[in-house]
Amino acid sequence: MADDIPKRVLGVFAHPDDAEFFAGGTFACWAKHGAEITFVVATSGDKGSSDPDMTSEKLVKIREEEERNAAKVLGVKEVVFLRHTDGELFPTLELRRDIVRQIRLKKPDIVVTLDPTVFFWKENQRINHPDHRAIGAATLEAVFPAARDRLNFLELERDEGLESHKALTVYIARPYEHNLKFDITDCIETKIASLREHKSQIPDMDEMAEHIKERSLDPEAPLEFPRYVEYFRVIRLRG
Ligand SMILES: [Zn+2]
Repeated sequence: MADDIPKRVLGVFAHPDDAEFFAGGTFACWAKHGAEITFVVATSGDKGSSDPDMTSEKLVKIREEEERNAAKVLGVKEVVFLRHTDGELFPTLELRRDIVRQIRLKKPDIVVTLDPTVFFWKENQRINHPDHRAIGAATLEAVFPAARDRLNFLELERDEGLESHKALTVYIARPYEHNLKFDITDCIETKIASLREHKSQIPDMDEMAEHIKERSLDPEAPLEFPRYVEYFRVIRLRG
């Protein structure tokens, strides 16, 4: 496995808890083997409560804290919050520029994000959150061509000294159609432990743990020796 470990990874997601739910096992495995991982979270999840006494301002503080703690459990050192509005994310040029800035700053080998094409998954039980599609679109547009070609957002070079960067590989987490099954058997407990930090979002932690295990079961592994996996669409850009 050590040969496949990226040096630097940038995970770009819409909400606190997306990274953990969609790809927490993979991040934990990479971190365990020495990858330096940064999460960029576009919104701070300020709509994620049905408590009548909760306000968006209070919720931002709670959810950012939960996300920092969850990232720490995974072995992720830094979380950058872009503080766009939850539920209103759109792949604007402003969002694209924000992501380009982080790509140029962190110079990742791999960028992980969500699938902009998923309105609903194959099992027809869930509609994808529109913010998830928006962050996927904005991130792909940031990777190519904007982060690569210096004349895009030239102000980032002029005002902040950020040079263009080629992020050669993109992992799209839980895509409509995958081309990679990543074995997270050794890291699934870390994934579950990171999700336990999202106390404001998950009412029943034991049920969550059971659900994650059930959903991550590799259908090709024998039941006596269960293996757990996360699915990705991997795009390897030519240099
Ligand atoms: Zn989300």
